[in-house]
Amino acid sequence: MKIKILPRVFSLMIAVMLAVLSAVLTWGTTQAYVFSANWSGNGATWKYGSSLPSSFQDGTSFGAYAWTSIGSSSWTYTYNSGSSNEVRYVNIDGGSGKLAETSYWVDGQGYITQFLIEYDNQENWYTGSSTPGGSQIDLRSIAAHEFGHTLGLWHTDTTCNGTSSDATMCPFYTGGSTWWRTPATDDIAGITDYYP
Ligand SMILES: [Zn+2]
Repeated sequence: MKIKILPRVFSLMIAVMLAVLSAVLTWGTTQAYVFSANWSGNGATWKYGSSLPSSFQDGTSFGAYAWTSIGSSSWTYTYNSGSSNEVRYVNIDGGSGKLAETSYWVDGQGYITQFLIEYDNQENWYTGSSTPGGSQIDLRSIAAHEFGHTLGLWHTDTTCNGTSSDATMCPFYTGGSTWWRTPATDDIAGITDYYP
């Protein structure tokens, strides 16, 4: 995840950096979701960028809806072709390495005002709704994870074992897996806390 922050809220950047450090130091222990910033309201719009293949639309929409359909939170994502928040398909760093990146911008109050999700177009993506091959990257899983970042959720401090109990906001994806598609208890606690 990459974060872009305006200079006048540098203090927030320090807070985010501390949150990252904390996540590293306590990784593997039972902690909780980690927040870096939040929207002032309880919803945002988004759209498919012009570089996004049509075959990536369903999986991307799935990722947004994963956070809209949580009963304990009022948060909603709404598709709007005029939105300034978009999802792109670009070469980030060639094959392997980063699968996707999310950037967001915050205002002087520290509220998120805009986001950008980018998928790496050099990866071996699986765009369907069934089960990906063992070496494939499940778009629905990655979309859910990246949209989680756009809410301000940082990588979780909860234990991540590479198993189906893992939170969507765990920091590492296992090829062929699909469990990030559905937010786990820890993810739900996070979104409910900030967008009740
Ligand atoms: Zn991430």
